Amino acid sequence: MATPLLRYSEAAEQVHRFLVALAAGGEIPALGSAPASHSSRPAAGTAATEMVPLGVAPGRVLAIGIHADRDQPPFPRSTRDGFACRAAEANTHQLLFLAGQIRAGQQPGKALQAGEMVEIMTGAPVPEGADCVVMQEYVEHSSNFVRQVAPRTIEPGENIVAQGAEARAGDLLLPVGVRLAAAQIALAAQCGCHEVAVYTRPRVAILSSGDELVAVDAVPGPGQIRNSNTPMLAALVSAAGAVPVLLATARDQAEALDAALAQALAPGSRIDLLLITGGISVGRFDLVEEALSRAGARFFFGGVAIQPGKPVAFGQLARPENGRATRAPLPFFALPGNPVSSAVTFQLFALPLLSALAEDTALQPRFALARLSGDWRGKAGLTRFLPAWCDFTLEPTVRLVAWQGSGDIAAFAASNCYLVVPDVAGELTEGALVRILLR
Ligand code: AMP
Ligand code: MG
Repeated sequence: MATPLLRYSEAAEQVHRFLVALAAGGEIPALGSAPASHSSRPAAGTAATEMVPLGVAPGRVLAIGIHADRDQPPFPRSTRDGFACRAAEANTHQLLFLAGQIRAGQQPGKALQAGEMVEIMTGAPVPEGADCVVMQEYVEHSSNFVRQVAPRTIEPGENIVAQGAEARAGDLLLPVGVRLAAAQIALAAQCGCHEVAVYTRPRVAILSSGDELVAVDAVPGPGQIRNSNTPMLAALVSAAGAVPVLLATARDQAEALDAALAQALAPGSRIDLLLITGGISVGRFDLVEEALSRAGARFFFGGVAIQPGKPVAFGQLARPENGRATRAPLPFFALPGNPVSSAVTFQLFALPLLSALAEDTALQPRFALARLSGDWRGKAGLTRFLPAWCDFTLEPTVRLVAWQGSGDIAAFAASNCYLVVPDVAGELTEGALVRILLR
């Protein structure tokens, strides 16, 4: 592939350039060309759409924006159980005539007259003529009369949300490209959408390679290990709202790899992204790069100055012609075989691309700041993403999880984020404000 080892930021930039070009339908620019804007991440603009019931929409990406079908709130809404009245009158602390009651779901009978209060419940429409709601805790009764307790006063507008204050009929509330979580589902429901238009999920082929690998349900022989990358990557792909397509494990053998790549590229497999693990570093039986080259791969990078995950490669494969319109090339990531390396490089590079293929416009990956507990010393030169545990309290603190390197799945499973060590750093000291990569 003969591309130089990139810094992390350059490799992330290269994925971003790919996405910009994909969205624009243009050529993928060469390494080192002008950086693309990072203010937002473009969607790929390639996915089909479908209608789904709201109940199965969580995690899906909205394909048609949702507009308010009426004002929200649709009437001036009381936000308290209390007494609707005029603030100026309530602030005199005179007794006001209790003119009736409005419950949630009712329509006020008539406008509030001077000298009156109306008992009102949370969520009920405030009658015309009232400009505030005194909470029931702050009134005193005397037969059919009520007054605000002195010396409390109230401002006009207090405890009322005006009609249309949250949204006006016709306002765009959920734009295209939003991933639907609980809040967005509630908003769609409020707008009367029992079905929503979403993008189809991208299909991601997962190909693990390695002579030592056996299936999870097999008993490993001497020197063999179970293939944990395939289920791990499938979990990551599913969590990203995409569909994992599991390919059979390939031996470290040219023919096996060629056949697996041909399978991923076959028109019938309808794959949007290919993830390969293992066989990408410099060992004698690391044959994935050669197989990709034989299949005509164009590499955008091959090797990033990070730890773990240095050998990661990114590129695309032309799809075979099948008589019909030629499909866009198949993007791929060749991820290192070590499980933690695979997971990190998936998150750093494949996830942004996958989110774009899902038409999700939110930025990925997500970083945050935390206070370091303990310290770290090492050699500068690599951006490191080290398995760590963050206590997500008001003042998040993060500590490294002890590990035996990037094959240590037990340490990985005992972590909930990565501590990011900048490539210029030779040490991070206790109490420093450090960056973490969220999972
Ligand atoms: P490789 O990238 O092929 O050099 O593999 C690096 C390390 O990751 C080796 O210890 C492999 O045994 C291990 N490994 C490779 N593929 C997998 C996999 N699918 N599941 C678990 N471990 C793997
Ligand atoms: Mg291997």
